[in-house]
Amino acid sequence: MATELRTGSKSLRAVMGQLRSKGVGGDGENEKETLRVLCYDTTSWVSDAFQPAVKAFNADPENSFQMMIDFTTERLGPQSATYAAGYEAICTFVNDTADAGTIQTLSRLGVNMIAQRAAGFDRVDTKAARAYGMTVARVPAYSPYAVAEMAIALLMAVNRKTSKASNRVKMANFSLDAGLLGVDIHGKTVGVMGTGKIGQILCNIILGFGAKLICYDVFQNEEVKKAGGVYVTKDEIFAQSDILFFMMPLLPATRHTLNMDVLPKLKKGMMLINTSRGGLVDTKALLQGLRTGVISGVGMDVYENEQEYFFQDWSAKRIQDPDLTALLGEPGVVMTAHQAFFTKEAVNKITQTTMENLRDFKLGKREFDHPNNCIPKDD
Ligand code: NAD
Repeated sequence: MATELRTGSKSLRAVMGQLRSKGVGGDGENEKETLRVLCYDTTSWVSDAFQPAVKAFNADPENSFQMMIDFTTERLGPQSATYAAGYEAICTFVNDTADAGTIQTLSRLGVNMIAQRAAGFDRVDTKAARAYGMTVARVPAYSPYAVAEMAIALLMAVNRKTSKASNRVKMANFSLDAGLLGVDIHGKTVGVMGTGKIGQILCNIILGFGAKLICYDVFQNEEVKKAGGVYVTKDEIFAQSDILFFMMPLLPATRHTLNMDVLPKLKKGMMLINTSRGGLVDTKALLQGLRTGVISGVGMDVYENEQEYFFQDWSAKRIQDPDLTALLGEPGVVMTAHQAFFTKEAVNKITQTTMENLRDFKLGKREFDHPNNCIPKDD
């Protein structure tokens, strides 16, 4: 069960009491030390996955300490960092922000570990974390298949208009008129920017369509080349791709890879699929591309300013973000709310690796060469 923390008249002590009563683990049945963890941005899948994992951990006599995880629906940020008083570690997700100020507050409160239950850590200031001696771990790979397969699902929904077609058929409209025409993927030129773990799997699926695969990455992946991918320059991938996938992380160098300057370089009528991070796309440029027909459709599982909206039900509320409203009104847009990772296999792996990261932290294994440590030696 997720616990909602709210600032207000309640004292922090009362709120923390409420939190602890609804958490899991650390029941004091034995004398073992307890690692207290506060899990931010909790939705039901998170507590449903972690509660049994914590129970199993605590029931295992091999474990030298107990784990206790409390859950809050609050996002981590400079204000909500104060909720972590009394916890040694916190667990965060893709839209939690651990900037320098937040890390300073966490450190002051005695938090020494951020366990990111995701691969990307673009919202964690790793330099600040290093300065405050904070361990930051992540789940480097949970199911690259989940994300690659979702990227293809988005492509098919954009190209073959499957959501629109299904909605129409459910309303007994069986006509093929008005915008259902798609194209064969077979024979098209498909570009993949970022050929890492997810990108490589995607490349293999694309080759299965019988498409021509072109790639761009700062490092060339030999497996992708062997399979039939051809590396080209950034301008070439923009110019030649009928379909373009963004599969690279959000970094200063990749922020707004799609921007106003890139629009004239794109093949007219191309489709863009982004399952990586919203910040790879300048939303205003995307809207311009859609309105001018340069971009015929976009499949997006991520959105630049998603943190205000994603993982929450806004169906009965007014969306205040005009760019998001504009995107939702564009016929060529298929948008999902950051769910590409969301398969049973991925959730199991996220839970398992996060529990291992927390265990390793408590056992003192915080080395920079720990495979899940986000802070590289030379950061
Ligand atoms: P990865 O680290 O294995 O691969 C990333 C690739 O991007 C690497 O090959 C790297 O060299 C390349 N890259 C780095 N800088 C680049 C640049 N400037 N231009 C082009 N390529 C560049 O990561 P991954 O596991 O394949 O994940 C990719 C991204 O997918 C993650 O960073 C994350 O943002 C996103 N992701 C999204 C979801 C979701 O649910 N939507 C889930 C998991 C991951």
